[in-house]
Amino acid sequence: MNTAYDAAIIGGSSAGLSAALTLGRFGRRTIVFDNGAPRNKPAAHAHNFFTRDGVPPSELLRIAREQLLPYPSVELQSLTIGSAEKTAEGFVLTATSGERITARKIIITTGVKDGMPAIPGIQELWGNAVFHCPYCHGWEVKNEPVAIISNGDNAWHYAMLVSKLNKDLVFLTNGPSTLSAEQTEKLKRKGFSIIETPIATLEREGKGIRISFTDGSSIQKTAAYHRSEKLLFQNELAKQLGCQLSEAGSVTVSAMYETSVPGVFAAGDISHDGLHQVSVAASGGHTAAAACNSQLCAEDFEADI
Ligand SMILES: Cc1cc2nc3c(=O)[nH]c(=O)nc-3n(C[C@H](O)[C@H](O)[C@H](O)COP(=O)(O)OP(=O)(O)OC[C@H]3O[C@@H](n4cnc5c(N)ncnc54)[C@H](O)[C@@H]3O)c2cc1C
Repeated sequence: MNTAYDAAIIGGSSAGLSAALTLGRFGRRTIVFDNGAPRNKPAAHAHNFFTRDGVPPSELLRIAREQLLPYPSVELQSLTIGSAEKTAEGFVLTATSGERITARKIIITTGVKDGMPAIPGIQELWGNAVFHCPYCHGWEVKNEPVAIISNGDNAWHYAMLVSKLNKDLVFLTNGPSTLSAEQTEKLKRKGFSIIETPIATLEREGKGIRISFTDGSSIQKTAAYHRSEKLLFQNELAKQLGCQLSEAGSVTVSAMYETSVPGVFAAGDISHDGLHQVSVAASGGHTAAAACNSQLCAEDFEADI
């Protein structure tokens, strides 16, 4: 491993590999660290990505890595970065296995993890029968009976989106409903039911799922939606570097994806609370890398005069 890089990217998925491509095409000495846990890994297919609709997530990343091969200044390392610190010259990153590298700039693309409720079976179905996002998987289960495992404003948000694709909807609040009286009334007027009984288990049944409740009853649906109440932004390195965070935990960035710490960029799901999608992450990675490269070009140009 080299010791001095123009840029170090932590997270080698949609945002990170897109950033690496942009930097590689400028001949920037770039290192990408990745520990192999992209958010959509459990899903069999990734949808809604321009030119690659329906491709397995692992295949998208394989193509991305393959297309970095012509750019010899880019290096990929399967390591977990445990700490990051700013120095007078740039940044030092230390892997959990002890390796240390220095880089002039850093791009954090470490993503988000989905906190799962303690419902036996939900983790196994995540991404293939329990979905988080109708933009990603809604079309595949359109017009089918589906359950929304969500409460309060999250459930209400789902109602407006998912009812465009599915008319047979049941809302499972998994405990007392926190939907407002007005929201409840409107859902009922649409013909949707709300079940507050806690969920005991989720399991595969044929091509669909069976949802069993703690009172012994159960229902069969083609699929379910669930969005965790709390997204786990992988912001530990950003915190160590002193980057400003949003209330939800995403890393606050400028329009060009620079964080509040000069020379540190963040892109992909980690960089915003909003629409988390592969194409949005790839776009952010590209923009962050272009901004990072602009700074490097300006510094090199001035140093050479
Ligand atoms: C089940 C599911 C299905 C989805 N399906 C779709 C879909 O069909 N279409 C779509 O557009 N979007 C989909 N998404 C959303 C999509 O997964 C994300 O928007 C996208 O993965 C974000 O890319 P990213 O590069 O920001 O982060 P990620 O893809 O999550 O990648 C972050 C990477 O950083 C690595 N990493 C983290 N910390 C460290 C560290 N300290 N050191 C080294 N490496 C580290 C991780 O291992 C990971 O590889 C889905 C999400 C889920 C949960």
